[in-house]
Parts: sequence; C-alpha cells; structure tokens
Amino acid sequence: MTAYDPDNIFVKIIKGEIPCHKVYEDDTTLAFMDIMPQSRGHTLVIPKTGSRNLLDAQPEVLADLIGKTQKVAAAVMRATGADGFRIMQFNEAQAGQTVFHLHFHIVPMYEGIPLRPHTGETADHEALGALAEKIRSAF
Ligand code: AMP
Repeated sequence: MTAYDPDNIFVKIIKGEIPCHKVYEDDTTLAFMDIMPQSRGHTLVIPKTGSRNLLDAQPEVLADLIGKTQKVAAAVMRATGADGFRIMQFNEAQAGQTVFHLHFHIVPMYEGIPLRPHTGETADHEALGALAEKIRSAF
C-alpha cells in the first residue's frame, strides 16, 4: 500500500488551512459536510490521527471513530429527517477512494430519491453552511 501523505487535503482541513462546514469536533475527531454530497446531509467523519485507510489505522483509532460516527449520524438524522442512512468507507482508488486520509461517509437516504454520483457536483456553500448549523444544533 502507498505510504500515507501527511499533506493531504483533510489534514489541511484539520489544521484550518482549508475551510470546511464543521458539524462536530473534539480532541480526536472532526466531522464536516462533504462538498460534493450524494444526498442532503452527506457528512464526513475523520480521525485527527493520520492513516491512509482502514488497514493502517490503529484499532483504538477505529474504535473511537465508529463511536463518534454513531454520534454524528444521530445528529444528521435528527437534522435532516432522512428515512435512513448509509455508512460508506472506500479503500484505495480502485474502490473509489479519492482522499487518502481515513474517513467514514454518513449518507442520508430519502424515500424515492436516488443518490447522486460519488464526487459529482459541488454543492452551494450557503446551503451547506445552513445545513451544518442545523446538524450542530441537533447534538
Ligand atoms: P473518498 O472518495 O471516499 O475518498 O471520499 C472523499 C470525499 O471527500 C468525497 O466524497 C468528496 O466529495 C469529499 N471532498 C473532497 N474535498 C473536500 C473538501 N475540501 N471538503 C469537503 N469534502 C471534500
């Protein structure tokens, strides 16, 4: 497996060098809106510790991350009123991974509304910001 690149875009987001629409942050974890959402409320949950994907992450990092993902998913569901949600996580480009810093996707599902393509159109920033605020107040 290719080595982890500590200059990847999600590290820049963690450091605040690139803006994001944040929905949750603590010592170990950051969650923010996906800028190319597959559905309304598509959120990413990332560890602050660097790993390329599931395979090189420490088990304790994974354990913490899935707990935080549960917490964020509950807030996303409350804020969006979605009918369900998917958790997605891709490992390597062949599997669809485009950012090589471990992350879980929380993708809300709505009755009768198909998902948009992965890494499709960039969403309106104002709408993403408003949604992030709604999710933040749903914890
Ligand atoms: P993956 O393809 O599983 O590696 O997922 C990476 C995700 O990050 C994609 O769904 C992208 O839409 C999303 N993404 C890429 N750049 C940014 C960014 N600057 N802010 C928020 N989401 C991003």
